Amino acid sequence: MKNFLYLLIIFTALGLIINVSPELKDILGLSPAPCSKPITYSIGTLDSRFGVTSQQLIYDIESASKVWNDVLDKTLIKYDANSRLKVNFIYDYRQQATAQQKEIDNVITSSKADYNVLKVRYESLMKQYTVNKTALETKYRTLQQSGDATQAEIDSYNRDRDTFNQSVHTLNSAANQLNALAKKLNINVNAYNAVGASAGEQFNEGEYVEDIDGKRINIYEFKNENQLVRVMEHEFGHALGLDHVNDPGAVMYYLNEGTNSKLTTSDIDELNVICNIK
Ligand SMILES: [Zn+2]
Repeated sequence: MKNFLYLLIIFTALGLIINVSPELKDILGLSPAPCSKPITYSIGTLDSRFGVTSQQLIYDIESASKVWNDVLDKTLIKYDANSRLKVNFIYDYRQQATAQQKEIDNVITSSKADYNVLKVRYESLMKQYTVNKTALETKYRTLQQSGDATQAEIDSYNRDRDTFNQSVHTLNSAANQLNALAKKLNINVNAYNAVGASAGEQFNEGEYVEDIDGKRINIYEFKNENQLVRVMEHEFGHALGLDHVNDPGAVMYYLNEGTNSKLTTSDIDELNVICNIK
């Protein structure tokens, strides 16, 4: 015991308590058992360009913390206005890209609707064209075979032929419109993908930072509130001490690919390791 006391004095004097091994900290009573004390957070900076009220944010962040709290039916993370762990919302090129993608997405959706209307019209014109073509050909053959067609019959055939030719123009013009719209759609889809690629797929929508200035969670990007909840769950996971897990569906996977906000078995296993639950 004497030795431990001696160690404690030295470490305190050097300000190196954080370098003491966790086991030693437990013996010295310096650190609570893992997951026995909740991590607290508060809201730091919030850029209004995210277009979300702080009330909404608090609600979404609470939902994210609840996901972790529910696993062990225990408060692991909770809000405290005085907490030094700040959740900051920082607006930069990432959220800007997301907003841009949303805009292009709206254009694509409305162009797609236009395209579908035009496609139905084209298909019906095409059907009519085939029917009219067959009818005209039959009429022509009948005229040729009869040998003594009247002027009235010839006039009737000519009128049908002119109407048919007119319908071919309409059909061609519809095909051109359809192609132009398809091209515009492709350009927009490409633009959408290009903006997405520039923003990156990694979990850089947010980050958990622990450095000399303290602890903080910075959020940079979210498409909607569901995604915000997922990013917050991920960063809270890091705040609890979890690392990335090798499961593409997991919240703690290094890429933000999934849409589930529920934790997977890999996430829960990792939490159990952190909390020393066997
Ligand atoms: Zn991460």
